[in-house]
Amino acid sequence: MYVIGEKEIEAVTEAIRSGKLFRYGVGNQCETFERRYAEFLGVQHVSLTSSGTNALTAAITAMGIGPGDEVLVPAHTYMATPIAVVSAGAIPVIVDIDESITISPEAVDDAVGPRTRAVIPVHMWGAACDMDSIMAVAQKHNLFVLEDACQAVGGGYEGRKLGSLGHMGAFSFNYYKNMTCGEGGAVVTNDPALDRRAKCFIDPCHFYWTGRDEDFKPFCASGSRASELEGAVLNAQLDHIADTIDSLRSEKQQILAATRHLADFGFCPSPIHSPDHDCATQVMYSFSAAESARQFVDLFPSVIAGTTGRHNYTEWDQILIGAGAAHPAMNPYEMEANRECRRSYAEDMCAGSLDILNRTVMIPTDPRHTPQEISQMIQNIEAAAMVCVGKAAPDDFVITNAVPVDTQKFDVQIKE
Ligand SMILES: *Cc1c(COP(=O)(O)O)cnc(C)c1O
Repeated sequence: MYVIGEKEIEAVTEAIRSGKLFRYGVGNQCETFERRYAEFLGVQHVSLTSSGTNALTAAITAMGIGPGDEVLVPAHTYMATPIAVVSAGAIPVIVDIDESITISPEAVDDAVGPRTRAVIPVHMWGAACDMDSIMAVAQKHNLFVLEDACQAVGGGYEGRKLGSLGHMGAFSFNYYKNMTCGEGGAVVTNDPALDRRAKCFIDPCHFYWTGRDEDFKPFCASGSRASELEGAVLNAQLDHIADTIDSLRSEKQQILAATRHLADFGFCPSPIHSPDHDCATQVMYSFSAAESARQFVDLFPSVIAGTTGRHNYTEWDQILIGAGAAHPAMNPYEMEANRECRRSYAEDMCAGSLDILNRTVMIPTDPRHTPQEISQMIQNIEAAAMVCVGKAAPDDFVITNAVPVDTQKFDVQIKE
């Protein structure tokens, strides 16, 4: 959950007043952000682009992945992850998640086939994937690792920033993410060759602006450059991302500490990798039965991970029906080169993942919550949990001053 306000208004105003809205040659907002974000992440190269979807496609294309290749994606992610694979001409193979609701390293190991070239671990809801295991499996099978860190801006894994651990990382700065500029994205890497290809994907004409490189042959791609207005907002956002994450972590820790005693009754926090570096955008609990999760969200304003409407493979319409492009001749699902890739999907192919998702409830944290609101939330969570684990009768449950859950976050929240 981002915080946006006067600082961003000033930054945009200043950018407009400067009259310099194009990043190359005239402005320096995008370039400044790329340098600062690289430093923040601890990577060599950052390239801004127009969306997270584009950042993912730029990365897959940069890796040289295309027709004839498979890329492993988790059963639970925003549909942009598999769509980016198809946009590059390759075929996404859907693999199970585990109780952490991130991709299962064992499932990745099992799913690798002769055509598999890469895996996309998605740090879903800001929760880190098991990166040590994934990197080990990837190394064993010689796979590229592209971290989808779109929902994980500011999070880490064992002291390193999410998005910086794989061969490449992709970020989104849309309305729903920890840092926003309305719409935007970034692709990051330590590899200069991958960076050069990603930059060409984002702007096929970049050599005109930044200078020709005799060793590099540009290729055609759809342009998706960021503007200086986005760069200006992101520079302001980067100034307070650390504070935002700190306040989310503090809220999450308070909730987890106060509900720890309910674990013995079956109200258990979902397992999480590298909890000390968590983005903490959600407090997640996994029940033993989907029915208890449904009862919980009826009592306390929260969300079942399996019912968000666009994050489970069963909801990826185009992917499931193999509609891989606007023009049939460009549809990877129909291409001769992809004949040996695993191209068919079934609604029940990852039934185990759906079961986990339907038992997992998510309570969003929010940097705008006051200490009083947090303690009220804790009281209500405890009371609702007692009912769901059968320790209190539904009639005993009275919700007091419920803090509404802003699950969509369509409004810009002005602070300061
Ligand atoms: C938001 C998101 C994307 C895509 O980002 P856009 O900026 O909306 O294109 C990709 N993957 C995940 C996991 C996301 O949450």
